[in-house]
Amino acid sequence: MSNKNFIQTIIDDDLAAGRHTKVTTRFPPEPNGYLHIGHAKSICLNFGLATEYKGVVHLRFDDTNPTTEDTEFVDAIQHDIKWLGFDWGDNRFFTSDYFEQLYQFAVVLIKKGLAYVCDQTLEEMRECRGTVNQAGTCSPGTERTVEENLDLFARMRAGEFKDGERTLRARIDMANANMKMRDPALYRIRHAHHHRTGNDWCIYPMYDFAHCLSDAIEAISHSICTLEFQNNRELYDWLVLHAEPVAIPHQYEFARLNITYTILSKRKLLLLVKNNHVSGWDDPRMPTLAGLRRRGVPAQAIREFVTEVGVAKANSVVDVLRLENSIRNILNETAPRYMAVLNPLSITITDWKKGTVDMLTGSDGRQLPFDSELLIERDDFMENASPGFKRLIPGGEVRLRHGYVLRCDKVEHDASGNVIRLLCSHDPETRGGNAPVGRKVRGTIHWVSAAHAIPVVTRLYDRLFLSEEPDAAGDFLSDLNPNSLQTVSAMAEPALDQIASASWCQLERVGYFFSDPLDSKPGTPVLNRVVALRDSWTKKKPTTHIAPVKTPTTHIAKGRLLTQTEAASAGALQTRGIGKEQSEVLSQAPLSLSLFEATVNAGAPASTAANWVINHITTDAAHAQITGVKLAELINCIDTAVISNTIGRRVLLNMITTGRAAKAVIAAEGLQQQNDNAVIADAVQGVLEKHSDEVARYQAGEKKLIGFLIGATMRTLAGKGNPGLVREMLMKALN
Ligand code: ATP
Ligand code: MG
Repeated sequence: MSNKNFIQTIIDDDLAAGRHTKVTTRFPPEPNGYLHIGHAKSICLNFGLATEYKGVVHLRFDDTNPTTEDTEFVDAIQHDIKWLGFDWGDNRFFTSDYFEQLYQFAVVLIKKGLAYVCDQTLEEMRECRGTVNQAGTCSPGTERTVEENLDLFARMRAGEFKDGERTLRARIDMANANMKMRDPALYRIRHAHHHRTGNDWCIYPMYDFAHCLSDAIEAISHSICTLEFQNNRELYDWLVLHAEPVAIPHQYEFARLNITYTILSKRKLLLLVKNNHVSGWDDPRMPTLAGLRRRGVPAQAIREFVTEVGVAKANSVVDVLRLENSIRNILNETAPRYMAVLNPLSITITDWKKGTVDMLTGSDGRQLPFDSELLIERDDFMENASPGFKRLIPGGEVRLRHGYVLRCDKVEHDASGNVIRLLCSHDPETRGGNAPVGRKVRGTIHWVSAAHAIPVVTRLYDRLFLSEEPDAAGDFLSDLNPNSLQTVSAMAEPALDQIASASWCQLERVGYFFSDPLDSKPGTPVLNRVVALRDSWTKKKPTTHIAPVKTPTTHIAKGRLLTQTEAASAGALQTRGIGKEQSEVLSQAPLSLSLFEATVNAGAPASTAANWVINHITTDAAHAQITGVKLAELINCIDTAVISNTIGRRVLLNMITTGRAAKAVIAAEGLQQQNDNAVIADAVQGVLEKHSDEVARYQAGEKKLIGFLIGATMRTLAGKGNPGLVREMLMKALN
């Protein structure tokens, strides 16, 4: 096969050359949190390779850090891997099972003079490590004899010393270009209870030491980890060479999974849980496998998504839309359809005989009671719609899904003019979708019978974070989307009350939903929206919710209806002081939105940032060159009167073409604003003398000539005059 990933190619070569006869991989989670979708990539890769090459895969809990680890996490991790569709059989291991063997490896290193006991504190060690450009200095511990080291290491194990008092370090090279090789710590003292070994140990191996030697103990043939560990590989190789394990494993690095609008770090996810930003590890907005499962994301969708993303050697960020598409592809095939109205508007069918119920048939043969009192979605009716609106309007017709064609004859309002009810008539010839040939209807909408509908709780989830890279500014908590969960009580067709807990449905035209496994009760479903539908009509002609297009560009969405996600995002922007129109523009243009967020994060006022992003950063080239930090610097230069707004635009153009930062451009081009009164007064004087004609006409009443005179003064000042000062001084001189 030609489309193998680079790891498969390595394995093929190893097998062909006889370097390995059996493929053994491992997935090594640390039981200090729940697995997230990034881990799923590693799981699919390691388990997938083992299956493909008829090898084995080990599940190894990397439990060397007693203070953060817990059996709760061990159980959760196992549950998640099984749910994802993988089985490790008998091959479940714990690094803590190897504590004695690892200790003996350390003794081997000490005996060879390759490890020593160090008394430096953490700070001292850091100070002595040197920098990238400067060699470190050796710890006094390097002077110790093998006997002393063996004795001290044994006493460390025996509990004679306090936490942090001593470490065991590898003796490698304090001048090594690779900082990881500058005598790294191998063991530290931690008087802590371990979830499996209890109080047996008070020294614990460091990750770098334990990881490679555990791979060696298990004879792992291909130890696959993420790119952050590239620098650790030299130490990995050094340790498996010198500690003399039976097998010599090798490490290979691949690009970790990153997804837009998503945080994939256990440490940061833990913070969300601890600070109650979410309801727990399994909150349906979390990218944890537990959260995705509870939301209703099928395991198959996750497997297909990570497989499709592929295994690469360079890091990148995957668009979350790809995950959403994988989910839709599966649910579109499998989820049974129902109808529910989230924001109801009452309809009375005036030519229907009150009290008679027509049992219509929906897909899957379900029964849909139809009578004179119906509910439709408020958004599906518009009193003053533009011609592009394809649903119900006064005097217009629309098809009710699985039902009749309906005409709106009359609109009833309340005292303040809000629409409260529509009086409609129906066409009996059109029952269940039958319609005379040639009959034209604007569109199809969903509905329920008011008397038969049951209430259901729907939870509409949006992205947990507002920007594409929530932690770009190192402060992901301030990027939380305040509208990531909206709970709406809806009216649903009666058949939905049969839906089992933890099963899927499509609410027609609203989205794919999953009945919450914990909160759904028989007869009162709680439906989590897994993902919205791609709605056919949001893509069509603009209607009243048009987002204005200021500058035609590939990055600003063309005027169209906002999707629910976009509407929520626009709402959130408005609460931050951005005008309605600009909020809508930004919410429809992901690239612009993320630049806007980055600019605000870098310190620019939100409304100024929105202005610049929408009006001036409108091309691919601009987006390629201008970061939030750069734009914020430019805005700051204007706000602090270093340059004028007009010069700001010139600076921006220069920044786009040269890639320079604002201050560099201003300095290089000599664009600093002229704020000096004397210089401006001189320029004004010169202009008044040169254009005495215009001055006379101005004084005779031709007031609009002020523009000409300001322009002439600005030109004299090479465009750099402070515009406020120029105007002020001109006016003074003229009057
Ligand atoms: P986190 O950064 O979320 O804390 P971690 O790497 O510390 O994750 P571990 O439990 O040590 O968590 O990870 C187990 C395995 O999963 C490791 O091999 C790690 O490389 C891999 N892994 C973690 N995050 C990702 C990711 N985003 N994409 C792919 N693999 C990942
Ligand atoms: Mg880790």
